[in-house]
Amino acid sequence: MGKYDLPQVETHLYINGKWLEGSEGTVDVVNPATGETLASVQQGGEKETKEAIEAANKAFEGWSRTAPSERAKLMNKMADLVEEDSERLAKIMTMEQGKPLAQATAEIQTNVENLRWNAAQGQRIMGEIIPSPEGKQWQARKQPVGVVGAITPWNFPSNMIIRKISPAIAAGCTVILKPAKSTPLSALALMELFHKAGFPDGVVNIVMGDSSTIGKILSESDDIQKITFTGSTEVGQILNEQAAPTLKKVSMELGGHAPFIIFPDADVELAVDTLIKTKFINNGQVCTSPNRIFIHKEIKEQATKLIVEKIREVTVGNGLDDPTTGPLINEEGVKKVEEQLEDAVAKGAEILAGGHRLTDGEYANGFFFEPTVLDGVKKEMDIFYNETFGPVIPIITFEDEEQVIKDANDTIFGLASYFFATNIHTINNVSNKLQYGMVGVNDTTISNSATPFGGVKHSGFGRENGTFGVEEYVEVKFVTIASEK
Ligand code: NAP
Repeated sequence: MGKYDLPQVETHLYINGKWLEGSEGTVDVVNPATGETLASVQQGGEKETKEAIEAANKAFEGWSRTAPSERAKLMNKMADLVEEDSERLAKIMTMEQGKPLAQATAEIQTNVENLRWNAAQGQRIMGEIIPSPEGKQWQARKQPVGVVGAITPWNFPSNMIIRKISPAIAAGCTVILKPAKSTPLSALALMELFHKAGFPDGVVNIVMGDSSTIGKILSESDDIQKITFTGSTEVGQILNEQAAPTLKKVSMELGGHAPFIIFPDADVELAVDTLIKTKFINNGQVCTSPNRIFIHKEIKEQATKLIVEKIREVTVGNGLDDPTTGPLINEEGVKKVEEQLEDAVAKGAEILAGGHRLTDGEYANGFFFEPTVLDGVKKEMDIFYNETFGPVIPIITFEDEEQVIKDANDTIFGLASYFFATNIHTINNVSNKLQYGMVGVNDTTISNSATPFGGVKHSGFGRENGTFGVEEYVEVKFVTIASEK
């Protein structure tokens, strides 16, 4: 196989342990680096979604009663298969999503960790024996929620899936997955491995197709007990509304607009290095990407100079050629960045580096954009309030600690936030007052298998990863047992 050839991968729906053609034709998957069509993927609709719901309900009976140690055995086998197949999985991801191969490989490794972590945790979902009056025994039992509908985005097309499926199946739930239409191949490659690992039919199912049709059926069905969604706030609101009449459990991992604050006592080099590394993960198309860079005026000149120097070292290209960063996902993604920059410049911001779409040579047919630094960002600019899903570093100057906390919190979002400081009072004060689900202090590695990931405000609710992640797939049942005298 050539360097630029797509590895073999399934294109069918996977329901009840079988690979099926869909009733709604096919949709092409496009490589965002080259514009070429990689594959045509089968599409289902109402019929297939209902079949998957039936299969997952049937499978729940057996899977929920399977010993946790047996479930763990299969999950660890799945982890081994993912690890062994990581080269193929990473290449598929790079080709359909655009991120550099090294980042895709790291995402696959995160899947392995996630599967192993949850396999272990599934065996430690403990209930409680509660002190009770004589003659009674009180128990709080933990039981799997039931059938889970999972809807995932394109930006982490493999890990967003495993993050949901592993705690769900570890807890004894069964799953119907609807992946994003631009990146179904990574999802299908995972389904192949679930099949190969030997999970019982119906435990894990995938339906590709029109998202609003499938989303509506999953969220409105009384045969689904939980919806877990990662994606935009707008779609999260729709799903939440549709799920409300059946009062099912819902978890929402939605948009973000992370502040990244550099205080005057910070290690400026460390802060800038970390900023550049974090910003160019997935070319800025990350819900936790640093999106509003607040720099204290005392160190503004030094930090800005470093940012501009370092951004010039960022290489852009086809993810298979080992660049720092790849293309954006599609034309719409490029347009959004262009519009935000145009609006900011018209309102007085200054572009210090980059600022344009890349169109020549190897870039001609893809969705590439220059790594960009924007200075003088103000609240009247769209970029201050709206999530940037692209390679832009917007700089805002601040003078006062309390004011920058207020400005950092001045957003509907509340997912990730970061700041760099050394003064213990600043560290305590700012980490207390930032209204975010996650705060990175001199650190941006906020996503780990063992630690809670999620947001507040319009970034959603519920947590993924760690013990909190598994609890999302568990119900507490109180049992009182009266013993006869
Ligand atoms: P999106 O448009 O909301 O799509 C996400 C998923 O929802 C896709 O599978 C999409 O399917 C589906 N969808 C779209 N409309 C739907 C509807 N009416 N009913 C049911 N499902 C529907 O988001 P995106 O552009 O793919 O992803 C980027 C967003 O995700 C950003 O806002 C980012 O911040 C957020 N995100 C959040 C987290 C987190 O953990 N908080 C992580 C990653 C990304 P189709 O693709 O088939 O339309």
